[in-house]
Parts: sequence; structure tokens; C-alpha cells
Amino acid sequence: MKKSTIVGYPRIGVNRELKKAVEGYFKGDLILNELQSTAKLLRKEYWETQKEKGIDYIPSNDFSFYDNMLDMAILLGVIPKRYSELNLSPIDTYFAMARGYQKNDKDVKALRMKKWFNTNYHYMVPEIEEDMQFSLNDTKPYDLYKEAKELGVTTRPVVIGPFTFLKLSRLKTTNTFEKCLEELVDVYIEILSKFEADKVEWIQIDEPILATDLTVEDIILFKKAYKKLLDKKVNTKILIQTYFGDVRDIYNTLIELDFDGIGLDLIEGRKNLEIIEKYGFPKNKLLEAGIVNGKNIWRNDYKKSIEIIKKLEEYVEPDNICLSTSCSLLHVPHTLRAEVNMNEKYKESLAFAEEKLGELEDLKKLDSNSEYIESDIFKKNQEILERKNTNSICYNTIIRSKVENLKEEDFIRKEKFEERNKIQKELFKLPILPTTTIGSFPQTSEIRGLRQQFKKDGITQKEYEDKIKEKINEVIKFQEEIDLDVLVHGEYERNDMVEYFGEQLEGFLFTQNGWVQSYGTRGVKPPIIFGDVERTKPMTVNWIKYAQEQTAKIMKGMLTGPITILNWSFPREDLSLREIAYQIGLAINEEVLDLEKAGIKIIQIDEAALREKLPIRKEDWKKEYLDWAIPAFRLTASKVKPETQIHTHMCYSEFSDIINEIQDMDVDAITIEAARSDFSLLDFLKEKNFKPEIGPGVYDIHSPRVPSEEELEKLINIMMDKLDVNKLWINPDCGLKTRGIEETKLSLINMIKATKTIREQLKK
Ligand code: GLN
Ligand code: ZN
Repeated sequence: MKKSTIVGYPRIGVNRELKKAVEGYFKGDLILNELQSTAKLLRKEYWETQKEKGIDYIPSNDFSFYDNMLDMAILLGVIPKRYSELNLSPIDTYFAMARGYQKNDKDVKALRMKKWFNTNYHYMVPEIEEDMQFSLNDTKPYDLYKEAKELGVTTRPVVIGPFTFLKLSRLKTTNTFEKCLEELVDVYIEILSKFEADKVEWIQIDEPILATDLTVEDIILFKKAYKKLLDKKVNTKILIQTYFGDVRDIYNTLIELDFDGIGLDLIEGRKNLEIIEKYGFPKNKLLEAGIVNGKNIWRNDYKKSIEIIKKLEEYVEPDNICLSTSCSLLHVPHTLRAEVNMNEKYKESLAFAEEKLGELEDLKKLDSNSEYIESDIFKKNQEILERKNTNSICYNTIIRSKVENLKEEDFIRKEKFEERNKIQKELFKLPILPTTTIGSFPQTSEIRGLRQQFKKDGITQKEYEDKIKEKINEVIKFQEEIDLDVLVHGEYERNDMVEYFGEQLEGFLFTQNGWVQSYGTRGVKPPIIFGDVERTKPMTVNWIKYAQEQTAKIMKGMLTGPITILNWSFPREDLSLREIAYQIGLAINEEVLDLEKAGIKIIQIDEAALREKLPIRKEDWKKEYLDWAIPAFRLTASKVKPETQIHTHMCYSEFSDIINEIQDMDVDAITIEAARSDFSLLDFLKEKNFKPEIGPGVYDIHSPRVPSEEELEKLINIMMDKLDVNKLWINPDCGLKTRGIEETKLSLINMIKATKTIREQLKK
């Protein structure tokens, strides 16, 4: 029988026990010992579950209190001085790096955080400082190996490899990458020799960076580093694990080097199979075949998986194939067992982490049975898939034909930008440098409590809505008092910018407990796009209309765009992403048209997540993503009158490499987050003759700091130097939802004062 393994397991706990324990430790409600014993219990549960499901190579050290990259930084002694100088205990140093430290008149910022490849998981970015001495500085990987061993579970410790670690680090040193890598590898040699001493049979080294675009230079450096490491190998075997794509640039090097196993993603790395077919696979190595999707939540199609295995067997010794997940199961929720309220007709089509272990077990059995087609396991699996495919919510003929019959003109606004801009300027008569906000105002615990009460039937719909209206009145009054030009309603009725729409659209499924770690102790609960998406009723119109009725100023309509809704959900796999995006695009378009009909003059369609799902490889950007993502957005604004102004908002400013596509969204105005960068994007926009009006974001809402009037004036002046003043909007850089009320008020007041001072100067 073949063997099975997984790349890694979720760690937050079925009931988010780890989150609660770590946050309890932060608050001082828990002492270190208590935190550790919670963690130990969770690990025990994870290992035993895997063992029960017959996983042959069970990972250890995939566990982390906060983040694995941060764990690696600690293990390798990559601790910037500002943290070591705090003289804290090891665990507090670790958390200081994760979250910053403000105590006893010390004030140190956290390490930066960045998205882990094309996932919604964020890692802490290690910093390599000048004359930093890399050294083995922690015992966690060995401790956890021993901990499992004592429980009767032999594990395969996982570490992130030196190449990926360094590639994702910030090099704040005059040393070259090559030099740093060389020094780092010496520590990995030490790590390996400690494992050898503990008689560890296998270790797993994760190098996901190998699935990205590599240069010839990269390959040379990788080879050199690993030659040195692999030379020191005696008994312990090394698995080089890749994920999130294929290894087209480096496959030949990987099979040449003395690795004992190679882990390949056969889901996202569709090309990996072709590569194996083309170049073969060495006889003496283990292939860890990632056939169970680690990133999505659908039940595996056993027919397809067995076909892949059979194909692999033409090139790889059957006994050397080990069934695995495409990446760590960190990116899916723990288990369907927690979904007690979910209807069985949906649930049977899903598999979370624990259920995926069962799938590996099934596949192992099926593979060893030449009559598998007749087996119950196989039949049942195919029946479930069949039931899903014929489930009426997955196939809405009206929507399907709408998408099929889309014509070029459905993606185009009839009037050109210049024409629209002129009409809108004349109609709106906004002052120069119009001021606005991005949409949400502080979501206090009062509002969250109100929503909870409403959900639990503690208050009636009418009571709930009246309260929200009260909040809307309040925020409108405030905006009028401080004299903002374009108002918002504050988004008080929304829990989350995707959930709010998903709950009202057909085709979405929500989980009760489907938490996925996003960063540190934070989790998200992505909705599942189960069926065809249809709008059956207006979603925001009543609220926005109500808000507009309370003021003579322009009230902005607020929507979430199709790409963001798609990217922050688990998408179905029986339909292309393009079609899903178009379905959502059509739904949002209907909402836009209804808002327009209700007299809303400016409509903002947020695309906060547009950039994050850009494919890992540049050559795939257009074909596999932008070529349908941008049209899906355009769909939302087609058929809109020229006098209606369409805005979009994006939560980042790094889009110089997709500037043409952003321009192609054909919006009238765009607000972005440029305050935290150095405004270099603005030079670029000018150079490119970027058409839409722009609100670059004059202050950072990610911090409670109140910017001063002078500082804001200075910033606005810089922005005016770089961009046509007739195109500039003045606004914060993102929604104010997470901020406190006081700081929000003070910041906005300063923003308006600064704008007015500059308007006066412009008159002179
Ligand atoms: N309109 C949303 C808000 O203000 C945008 C949020 C976001 O960009 N993440 O909250
Ligand atoms: Zn934003």
C-alpha cells in the first residue's frame, strides 16, 4: 500500500482554543505554563487524529503560537537588536517581534507583516541586520519531536528552508544575499546534525519560493546552498517540499540534488505533472504527490485523483509515491464536525482539514484495490459529487444564460471618461480638493452587540433598524458639522464587507465555525460559493436611500466589488473563476443600477483584494486572472448614466506593475493607500497620464495616531506637486471601522482644516 502524509495541519483549534489562550496570555489572564499546556493538548489532539487516519508521515513543528516564519527567525537567531535589547524572556521577545512592545517607557514596533504567497495568511517578515550572527537559538523543533515521540507518534519535523526564509526576509545589511545564504546554511547544518543525533528518520524542508519565477542566479545559489547542506546528511532523510504552484524553473536541479523526497503540488501546480512526464522522476526518491487540495474545502474527486496517481505511476516507482496535500491544511478550517447546523446536502460535498485526512486514507485504500471502481468508498464519493452537480442551486438557468449572452457592450460605459468627468463636475459642483472618507465609521462594541442581539432574536428587526438609523443620523450630522463634501452612511449595518453581501445573495454558504488563521491570533471565516450567484433583492438601497434623504450633500453608495467577494470566499470548482466573477459582477451591477434609480450620485465599488490573487508567476497574470477580473469589475458599472460617478477603493498602493489594468477598470475616481508609502506611485501615475480622479489617502488609519494639521497640509502640497489639483480627492487611506471614535473625529477635523487652508491659498 502507498503511504500518505500532509504538508501541515491547522493549529488554531476547533474552537479557537489557541487564539483564546494566546490572547489570554497577552492580557495577563494566563501564565506561560497554562499557555504551554493548552498548546500541548492541541498538538496531542492533532497528532492523534492524524495517526488514527493512518497518516504515515506526520509533521511536527508545523505548530506555532503565532507564525512559522517568526518561529524560524527565532530558531536561526534572526532577532533584531531592538527586540533583544528589551531583555525579555524568550517567549516575550517572540511576542514583541510579533506585536510590538509598549511598556515601561519602551516603545518598539512589530516586524512587518506580509501576505504568504497567494494566500490570505500573513507572515512576519524577518529582518537581517548588519553583522547579525546567525546561530541555533531555540529547541522547539526537537522538543516537539520528542513530545510526539512520548505520545507514541513518530513525526517528521518541518522547517522553512533557508532559500525561502532569506528571500522573504528584509536584508538590512551590506552583506549580499549570497553571503547571508552561505552563513544561514551553516545553521541549517547544525539543525540537521541535531536531528541526526536524535535519530530522526525524515525531516521536511519547505521551499515554497521554488514555485515562483526564479532567475538563473537563484538556481545557482539554491544549488550551492543545498549541496553544502546535503553533503552533511548521514542517516536522516530530507524531503524538499514545494507548494502553491509548479517548479518549472528548477525541477531538473531538484531531481539532481541528493534529496530523499520531493514534494510537489499537483493541484495549483498543474504543470508539475507535465514536467514529470517530460523529465521523468529518479528511481530512488520519494514523490510526495499533493493531490488533496490544501486551499479549498471541496470533497476530493476520487476518480480524478486516481487518474493522476495512475499517470504518475508511468514515471515514478509505485511504491515511491506518497499521497499528500497540495499545501499545508493551515488554509482550511479544522473540521466539519463543528458545523452542527449545516444542512447535510451541503455538508456532504465539503471536506475541511480533518476530513481531508480521511480522504487520504480512502485514496490509499482505493489505490491498492484493482477493483476500486466497485468499492463502496468510490461509489459513495462519486454519488456525492453527482448529487452536487445536479443540485439545483448550482445551476440557475437564468444566470447561466445571462453570463453566456454577455456582449462586449455589457463591459463598457458608453461615454468616455473625459466626457463623464465634465458632466459630473458641472453637476456636482464640488469644491476643489473634495473631501470624503472610504465608507465605514468606527464599529463600536455597541454596534457589534446590537447585531448579536438581533441575530439571537433579542430585539426585533424594527428595533435593530431604528438603532442603525440613529447611528446613521449621528454620523451624517458629524460629517455635516465638520463640513466633509461627500458623505457616507458609515456601514453600521455590515458585519464584514464580503459577508454582508454574501448573506443576501443566492449561492453563498456560511459556516458556523469555519475559521482560518489570517495572522497571529486573527482568523477569518470565508463564505463558500456553493452555487450560482443571483441577486434576488436590493441589498443596500434602502440604507443608502435613507441616508441620502437625511442630507442635502451627496451620499456615496457603498458596495463590495466582485473580485473582492470572490477572493475572500472559497470558490466552487465546478465553474471557472471567470464565470463566478461575472455572476457576482452582474449581481453588483443590478445593485448599482438600483442605487442610481434611487437618486444616488456617487457609487463606490470596493476592490480591496484585487491585487492579492495575482498568480504567482508573472506570465500567468493576464491570462489566468486580469483578463477576466478587470472585465468582471467593468460589468458592475456598465449601463450607468454618465452623470453617475463610479469610485473604487483599493487597500494598497503597489500597483505600478498593473497600472494599465487599473486604468482599464474605467472608474471615475479611485481612492488608495499611499500615505504609508513614499508617494512614488503618484509620480508614476503622472508619468502614465493616469485618467481617473485620485484620492491617495492622506493619513494612515492602521494606527490610532492623529495626524496634525500642518503635517496634512504638507502632504496635500506634495500631492498637488505630483498630480493635477483638479483630479485630487482628500480622504483617509482606508475605512475607519477599526478605529476609536475620538481619534477618528480629531483626524478628520484636521484633514478638513488642512484642506480648507490650502483651498484659501489656491484662491490667492
Ligand atoms: N468601504 C470599506 C470600509 O470603509 C472598505 C474596507 C477596505 O478597504 N478594506 O470599511
Ligand atoms: Zn481599504
